[in-house]
Amino acid sequence: MKKTILTGDRPTGRLHMGHYAGSLKMRVGLQDSDEYDRILIMIADAQALTDNFDDPEKIRRNITEVALDYLAVGLDPARCTFFIQSQVPELCELSFYYLNLVTVSRLYRNPTVKTEMQLRGFDSSIPAGFLCYPVSQAADITAFRAATVPVGEDQLPMLEQTREIVRRFNALYGETLTEPEAQLAENAASRRLPGTDGRAKMSKSLGNCIYLADSAEAVRQKVMDMFTDPLHLKVSDPGHVEGNPVFAYLDAFCREEHFAEFLPEYRSLDELKAHYTRGGLGDMKVKRFLSAVIEAELAPIRARRQEYEKDIGAVTDILKKGSVRARELAAQTLSDVKRAMRIDYFDGAGLC
Ligand code: ATP
Ligand code: MG
Repeated sequence: MKKTILTGDRPTGRLHMGHYAGSLKMRVGLQDSDEYDRILIMIADAQALTDNFDDPEKIRRNITEVALDYLAVGLDPARCTFFIQSQVPELCELSFYYLNLVTVSRLYRNPTVKTEMQLRGFDSSIPAGFLCYPVSQAADITAFRAATVPVGEDQLPMLEQTREIVRRFNALYGETLTEPEAQLAENAASRRLPGTDGRAKMSKSLGNCIYLADSAEAVRQKVMDMFTDPLHLKVSDPGHVEGNPVFAYLDAFCREEHFAEFLPEYRSLDELKAHYTRGGLGDMKVKRFLSAVIEAELAPIRARRQEYEKDIGAVTDILKKGSVRARELAAQTLSDVKRAMRIDYFDGAGLC
């Protein structure tokens, strides 16, 4: 069987450093490893509409932004299929059958759904589409027979839900679907990058992001305004690196060579952390270093984005071609699913 990766993002805004750390960087690594036959990257507009149904224009606008971010980080349309979820209607059909394999109470218990419901202030007002989006995510993953799904840590309960649906389907109707595995970033700090405000997750919905397309000046300003250790008031005070997003970002992005280049008084992050912890190292100095580290990462991404922005028509074309290809692949799985369920009335042995 082909080795396939499926992954995606909601077009609710431009992509940020959390996406980069938790998923995008890994995708580029997997792409460059040449170990996969198929890499599908989905812009999850239908899923984004489940909590943005009153503003479809926002979703529409952000589709191109997300595609530009993909190209900017080095995902290559020659090696990846970029597609738009809503343009593959087979996914809706699969979701409809999978909905029977999961209970409403199980959906309410999904930890990611729970957190997101709280965040959005949904209680009994939760749209049914939002509650059920883990089922549509199972359709997205299984439609392409993906075995590998590179994601941030917040998505693990989603993958578990998909695995349950796959097992239930296969047990009921016969071995048909592929059970996927989540792939997390190797670097632990990258799996859930905190927000610039110190909250647990950098997220478009929380407005605490450094976007990949932010200007150098905007990045510098965001880093300077970042939450640090509230107990570290004077430079001489001992500081805490745990729960301090400045150090979480350094854990995620800093490499040893950055010290030689930007902060030669230290040789490693451990040395810098030790100094901060014992006191005598100011937040501003660490932030200036972090700002340089992030800029080293983002400058080439920003430059590539500017190149692709010159021809938006070409970007639309990539998405259109990718969506046609994704449809072909999903249709094959849908046909297997219908055969397994014996609802292929007019394709097989007929109705009797
Ligand atoms: P929204 O607020 O609209 O849900 P989001 O910022 O959570 O947006 P998604 O599109 O839901 O982004 O997530 C896309 C992918 O990026 C998922 O695999 C998710 O796990 C990963 N991801 C998102 N935010 C982070 C983060 N802060 N750290 C690590 N990975 C992240
Ligand atoms: Mg999210």
